[in-house]
Amino acid sequence: MTGGDLLARAAKAVGLGPSENRRPPGGRWTVDDGNRDVPGGSVRPVRRVIVIGAGFAGLAAAGGLAAAGADVLVLEARERRGGRAHTVRLGGIDVDLGAAWIHTPGGNPLSELADRVAIRRTAYNLDRVVAGAMLVGTDGERYSGYRRLKLLARIARFSSAAARRPTGERTAQTVAGLLAAYTATLADPEERRWTEFVIRTVSETQSSGPVETAPVTPLAEPAGYRGGDDLPVGGYRGLIAALTPDVEIRTGAVVTSIRLDGDEVSVTTADGRTERGSHVLVTVPLGVLKSGAIEFRPALPEPKLRAIDAIGFGEFEKVVLRYETRCWEKLPGLLIRDGDTPLRAWLDATGPLGAPTLIALAGGPAGAAVASWSEHETVEHARAVLDRALGRRLPPPVAVEVTRWHHDPFSRGAYSHYPAGTTVADAEALTAPVAGRLLFAGEATSPTRFGYTDGAFTSGVREAKRLLGTASVQLVLRD
Ligand SMILES: Cc1cc2nc3c(=O)[nH]c(=O)nc-3n(C[C@H](O)[C@H](O)[C@H](O)COP(=O)(O)OP(=O)(O)OC[C@H]3O[C@@H](n4cnc5c(N)ncnc54)[C@H](O)[C@@H]3O)c2cc1C
Repeated sequence: MTGGDLLARAAKAVGLGPSENRRPPGGRWTVDDGNRDVPGGSVRPVRRVIVIGAGFAGLAAAGGLAAAGADVLVLEARERRGGRAHTVRLGGIDVDLGAAWIHTPGGNPLSELADRVAIRRTAYNLDRVVAGAMLVGTDGERYSGYRRLKLLARIARFSSAAARRPTGERTAQTVAGLLAAYTATLADPEERRWTEFVIRTVSETQSSGPVETAPVTPLAEPAGYRGGDDLPVGGYRGLIAALTPDVEIRTGAVVTSIRLDGDEVSVTTADGRTERGSHVLVTVPLGVLKSGAIEFRPALPEPKLRAIDAIGFGEFEKVVLRYETRCWEKLPGLLIRDGDTPLRAWLDATGPLGAPTLIALAGGPAGAAVASWSEHETVEHARAVLDRALGRRLPPPVAVEVTRWHHDPFSRGAYSHYPAGTTVADAEALTAPVAGRLLFAGEATSPTRFGYTDGAFTSGVREAKRLLGTASVQLVLRD
């Protein structure tokens, strides 16, 4: 158990648990991006800002700008807000197909957002899921008892040794390299295979990239948030609704080109309309920037193009199976070594979601493999894997969802990761404004919290600060 868990438990015991820590709903919120610096690099005056994308980054930026009196237009390609935060109703329950957790909720601004609008949070600690998971081998056999405890202790030692490494200007050593050196010290081949399997699965599920390129050392000091993981009750939908500002958000507006021309920017959408302003803030996912689906005129500067290429945008797909009844033994989750199945990491989300539900999390190469299957193939495969692992034939699920983030033209993958070899200069180049008028936000531009919703949120706040020349912004929250 981590120090954060212990603190959370102690706080709960005295009535300060996440759900109890409420403030008056809604209202104005003065917030910064983790520091009071005023970022430079934008030119004045700010007459009209066109924000591209209505995910956490775009909504936070638009809200901060609008509350300060700026003229803001948001162009959003999809017919909904939220981007990679997308809650759906499935068999009568709310399920998040994209972001689901507020990770390290202590001190995390999204915890504060939830508390301010009285959205309850429920603890759902992923370290505990791994620690309690049933381990199932290639022939359906369970890896249990003393061997399992030894394995978990070994994995905890590996993780804390990796976490003790300092940050570096250039991240060179990979998790795969460290893992190979570590497992080479294990005499028993079965122990070696299990250690390799669990560490690979956990790392790739967290980072969305393969361990072969995942760096051991982060580029930047961690943000300093604490604790395990919380779910916002009712899903991320509520947080998106609370953050949505009272500005024009044009949905179905697919941006195809952005032009900088003197002191004007013009943004053209697929329907042929062009909007003009003094500044444009691009918050589309890194996967969209990599694809070249948006044309920039003039072309983006070389360092930014290099950063777009170098920083990784990984895969993560979910398979959600909702059952009529829980017809399996109660367990936090399963880690399944069934051949090389990509459906290897499963959560039993019955407790947290309030209905019998199993969810596969397929990150990194596993996510890519799931993306290459049809929905039908994925569900058939999932059912076969579960039947073998649980040693019984489960009835057909009453509802299913298979995500397609890889194929979605407005995300083209799941979230970013900084592969070994990327540098602080790459991170800075991705974020840097161009000509003082073309600005960038979105999770990939957060040096400390890329890949997370809170990183997307603070990146939007950062760019609103840059445009306003202030140390913080105000957001008007909706109840
Ligand atoms: C499966 C999955 C699970 C995740 N789990 C978690 C989790 O548990 N916890 C966590 O903290 N994070 C998680 N994340 C990451 C998190 O969802 C993102 O970091 C965050 O939502 C990104 O917000 P954003 O504003 O940067 O980008 P987005 O939310 O992607 O917003 C960008 C917006 O730009 C729009 N857009 C794209 N192209 C165009 C265009 N051409 N014209 C106009 N608009 C365009 C998109 O439609 C989108 O609405 C997960 C992500 C995925 C995919």
